[in-house]
Parts: sequence; C-alpha cells; structure tokens
Amino acid sequence: MHDQTVIQPILLKYGAQMDQKFCGCPFTPMLDDRRYGRMKQVRATGLQLFREENIPLQVREQEPVARYNEIIGGLTAHWEGQDKPYPQVVAQMDSPHREIREAAWRSVQQARRSIKDEVARIMDELVQLRHQIALNAGFDNYRDDVFCEKNREYTVADCYSFHQAVERYVIPAWDRLAKQLQQSLGIDSYHPWVTTPCTLSKPPFSTVEELMDGVETMLRCTAPDFGDKFAHMRAHGLLDLESRNGKAPGRFCDFFGYSKNTFVFANFSPSFFALIALIHKMGHAVNGYLQIRDEYEWTDLRAEVAELYSHGMELLCLDKLGEFYHDESSLKAAQREELHRSLNMLIGPLSGDIFQHWMYTHPSHTSAERDAKYFEIIQRFGGHPVDYRGLEEEASIGWIDSIHFIAFACAACLG
Ligand SMILES: [Zn+2]
Repeated sequence: MHDQTVIQPILLKYGAQMDQKFCGCPFTPMLDDRRYGRMKQVRATGLQLFREENIPLQVREQEPVARYNEIIGGLTAHWEGQDKPYPQVVAQMDSPHREIREAAWRSVQQARRSIKDEVARIMDELVQLRHQIALNAGFDNYRDDVFCEKNREYTVADCYSFHQAVERYVIPAWDRLAKQLQQSLGIDSYHPWVTTPCTLSKPPFSTVEELMDGVETMLRCTAPDFGDKFAHMRAHGLLDLESRNGKAPGRFCDFFGYSKNTFVFANFSPSFFALIALIHKMGHAVNGYLQIRDEYEWTDLRAEVAELYSHGMELLCLDKLGEFYHDESSLKAAQREELHRSLNMLIGPLSGDIFQHWMYTHPSHTSAERDAKYFEIIQRFGGHPVDYRGLEEEASIGWIDSIHFIAFACAACLG
C-alpha cells in the first residue's frame, strides 16, 4: 500500500520529468537510432501522453488488480473430498482418463462461479478507470490510448484483418484436429473436457542429460549455430533445468548484460511438455545472443515480438522430434500435439485480443453483456468445434481466471 500510494505517484511524476529532460536535451538526436531509437520513441510517447491528473487514477488502478491477485492466489477447488489449490485441479484436465477430466472441469467451473461476482465488479471498476485515463489523455477510448502508449507498429485495422484471417484459415484446421481427437477417443460429443487430454503415453526422456543431448542434436540439425549456442550454455552452467529440493518454482530465460550470455532456468521432469518448453526457451536464448551480437537494444524486448522467436523455434524443430520419438506413429502423435499447441497459442490470445477491443470500446457494457460477448467470441474461435449445449453459463465466464484482462490490459499473451 505504501508503494502504491506514496512511491508510485512520485515515480510517475519524476519519470515524466526525466522524459522531458531527455527529449529536450541537445545531445539526444545524436544517439544512434539502431541502438537507442526505441528508447527515444518510448520516452517521446511517454511525454506526449503524460497527464498529471492521471497519476491518482493510475494509482487507484493498482488496488483492484491487487485484490484480484489475492482472490486468484487463494482460490481452491474441490477435489477428492478436499479443497485443493486451483491450479492443481486445472492440471487434472490434461489427464488421459475421461472421467477425471470431466470431474476436474466441473470442479474448476464451480470454483470460478464462487468468485465470479467479485471479479466482475473488479473488471467493471477497471474498465471505468481506464476509460477515464484515456479521456484525460485525449483519446476516445482506452484501446486507442494503449495502442499509442505501447508504440505499436501495427494498426487496429491490422488486428481485425488478422482476426478474420485466423477465422478463415486456422479454424478449419482446428476443427479437423478436434475431429481427429474425437475419433481417436471414440466419443460422440466433443465436450469442453474432451479438448485437453495429452495423447502421448510415454515421456520422451528419463534424465535431463538425455533431454539436453537430444535437444542439442535437434538444434544443430536446424542450424549449426543454434547447436553451438546450446553447447556453449551447457558447458558454462547456463542451463539450470533439473528440479531439485528447495529450488524456486517456475521457468524463464534471462540475459546477462555484463558477460553477454543468456541463461535458462526451469524445473523439468520427464514429459513432452518439458521437451517443448526447453526448445521454446532456446528460441528466446538464441534471439538474446543474436541481439547481443548485433548490439541491438536487447533489454527492451517487446512482448509481441519476444514470443515470435520462441514459438518460431518450436516450429523449426517440429520435423526433428524423431530424435525423441523413434517410431512413425509416436512421432506423428507428437507432431500433432505440438501443432495443436501452436494453434491453441494463436487462437487463445487472439480471442482475448478481440474481447479486450470490445470491452474498452464499449465502456458502458454490463457484466451480463460482457459474458455474452466472451461466449460469442470463443464459439467463433477456440470453442468452434466444442459442444457447449447446457454449459453456456460456464463457458461465458471462462475469462475470469485470466490475469491478462485484469493486470496487463491490452497486452499480447506472454507465453
Ligand atoms: Zn516464451
């Protein structure tokens, strides 16, 4: 609270003064655009959008976000007669057993319903606050404000044409994958709890050494330089992958400015997911090395672009999964799983994008209208092949456990 009410307003005020000083400095235009262009642009936009009267509103915006984090952090779901942490029950939706998946799905819905009204009030409050911030800065709505603030190199119209392209070209493939999964499971109806099972029965490796050997070969076959980077990281202790007692949870890729290295941290246990996650992180790592080499401003990665390299690396390695899956049928199953994941990563965040365009350009919407809009969007995209009959209410509140809508408004998904 002290940080939010005392420190942040001071930081915002002096941040704006710093932008002003920087933009007015006679030496600023002399800075090399290749290295400092982005920084110059970010500071100029910051100065252009700064409004003293928005400071208290930006401070107030933090309060409902903190409240939301508390609600989600403490959320539990009923599982096997006990209250379990919500993410643990969500993870059960990947189970190969249909009854477990359905029970988990229903338990997750019940947990969501228990917080729905409170989260809806938080969202209402945030939409109003953000709309006022945008009006103060001279925009018609918060969406347009954010487009300017984030220095996007694409337009609102580009977003809409991208949505349409995905609907036209990607959703038919998404439907075909659903049909295939439905057939392989031998079921009549494609319910929401059918959509997530992992169809790969065996983990692709048993030790982290095995994982690293295989991934190094895959990267080297993709580009010798990628293999060299991996070997360098491995030899210099820059890959901390194994889970062990007392190790912090999570996974990330970081950049070390002084030693000009990248570092990958994870807690991997043998699974298809761990294999893909390492390839994903190597996409970030290789990109980091290339930026260091070219002396770009690598500390200021844009969220939208950052994930391009990681997901790109996953797809570049798609035809090399035979390194782990030796027979033809398991290789095909692994490739299909990865394709499913890639399409999901495209469709999910995109639906969230459409949802946010709508929310912030219709700031006086009601909670019921918001849920109805969300349901309409998922039926157009990710939920297109799904049978929601009798489950409409559950499906329409699916947005409430996504932190992106609350805390990182209008940001692309950070996978
Ligand atoms: Zn990533």
